[in-house]
Amino acid sequence: MNILLATSEAVPFAKTGGLADVSGALPIELARLGHQVAVIMPAYRQTQFCGQKIERLGLDFIVPIGSKMVSGHLSRSIMPGSKVPVYLVHQDQYFDRDQLYGSDGKDYIDNCERFVFFSLAVLEAIRLLDLPVDVLHANDWQTGLVPAYLKIVHAGNPRYQKIASVFGVHNMAYQGQFWHWDMLLTGLDWKYFNWHQMEFHGKLNLLKTGLVFADSIVTVSPRYAQEIQASPLGCGLEGVLQYRREVLSGILNGIDETDWNPAKDRHLPAKFDATTVSLGKAACKAALQKELGLPQVAGAPLVSAVGRLDDQKGFDLIAEVIQRWVQTSDVQWVILGTGQPKYHKLFEGLAQRFPDKIAARLEFSNPLAHRIEAGSDIFLMPSRFEPCGLNQMYSLKYGTLPIVRETGGLADTIVGYGSPLAKSAPANGFSFQECSPLALSETLRRACDLFRLNSEQWKKLVDTGMRQDWSWGRSAKKYVDLYLKALTRAGMTKPDNPVHEGAMKVTPPLAV
Ligand code: ADP
Repeated sequence: MNILLATSEAVPFAKTGGLADVSGALPIELARLGHQVAVIMPAYRQTQFCGQKIERLGLDFIVPIGSKMVSGHLSRSIMPGSKVPVYLVHQDQYFDRDQLYGSDGKDYIDNCERFVFFSLAVLEAIRLLDLPVDVLHANDWQTGLVPAYLKIVHAGNPRYQKIASVFGVHNMAYQGQFWHWDMLLTGLDWKYFNWHQMEFHGKLNLLKTGLVFADSIVTVSPRYAQEIQASPLGCGLEGVLQYRREVLSGILNGIDETDWNPAKDRHLPAKFDATTVSLGKAACKAALQKELGLPQVAGAPLVSAVGRLDDQKGFDLIAEVIQRWVQTSDVQWVILGTGQPKYHKLFEGLAQRFPDKIAARLEFSNPLAHRIEAGSDIFLMPSRFEPCGLNQMYSLKYGTLPIVRETGGLADTIVGYGSPLAKSAPANGFSFQECSPLALSETLRRACDLFRLNSEQWKKLVDTGMRQDWSWGRSAKKYVDLYLKALTRAGMTKPDNPVHEGAMKVTPPLAV
């Protein structure tokens, strides 16, 4: 199959979040399975420092953005350690900026224009590069227009009409909503600006556009695919997702095991696997306590959290539990993260008041994130919602038991000890349902009791998690199945079976 992944970010070229991890890892795995895969993304200022060679192609193009014509050009690189080509779309006025989507906490005011341009450039690049494409996998609001352009503008064009579009949603909370006049930038007829298609409460909504026009929709865990069909996690688009439920599925992200593997991790003071975890983790824990200025007590549970300091991640619950526990228990706490200023202040204050119990590192540090995963006993993820989540899978791999709220990808990866699910699958952590400090506190109490009183059972949970397969290889096979279904749905047979080629049937978008 020929697959083109259109994304606004991909490791190592540019990253703000999980989308970059998916876009960096999935194409390589698909290529390993024998498919022809290419990636296309904008060339940002940070892209030039990615460490990969970038070659100019001398391919210039010009596209209409509203009433003006905007030019760009293409360059080419490859995904590290693979032959997967990465096509970079250059337009310096749009992409040569400090950040990807905004600065000083504010979105760039021309974000709609920037990604209208990028979406048009994706389709131009297919023509200019003469790229064979069976499946065009677009991602998030930044490329929500790509399925619409395929269905509306290129429906009768032989070069594009056989392409099936898949739209990946990584977080429903980010929708790319713009004032209605930005519809003019898209070049699409106003008739599509209606509540069944591109309009949402009077605004242009690019995420909705992708959801409406794609042949298939995929999100990053099966549970999240269910949850977003209802309020509140559908973020207002639950009706569209219910309407399109037949084409909506969820595939868990994988973890990059070349980077996240405690047996080979260059950031760790001691390496370990499932057979040497006891000794290895003890060494990592002692070193982490030392690094963070915490007393080196082996028997005190070391409880950590790493991530964006955001309400989504439940850091308010964590702060509340720490305050309840800190004076009455010997538990040690580690927080690594950046985000909302209120959490910076809160955790900084707590760490200052209780330096023997709490270490707060309010920064972004990948090496420290690795050492925290390896040195902790328990990892907290009490998220309000979590499309997939990666840290709980890293924790499992590093022999650290996660405590999660049963939502999204957390519910799909963690079987809570003592939960009803644990009757049919081996437990690998702890979980709770209610989004409250009390529920988190009670679950933590159970975990700490098990840690202290039943080391055999604890080791069993650790061993189960460490031996599970969370690799991208597993998820990539599911993506292949999804792409094949999308092709069939778009009115075609598999590309290796030419019998029905040309029998393209354009699925009409929702009726106006
Ligand atoms: P999301 O994409 O919603 O932020 P995920 O759990 O899917 O959450 O992925 C976040 C990734 O970013 C993880 O790899 C996590 O370890 C990493 N990360 C987040 N904050 C930090 C930080 N302050 N330092 C190091 N790594 C971080």
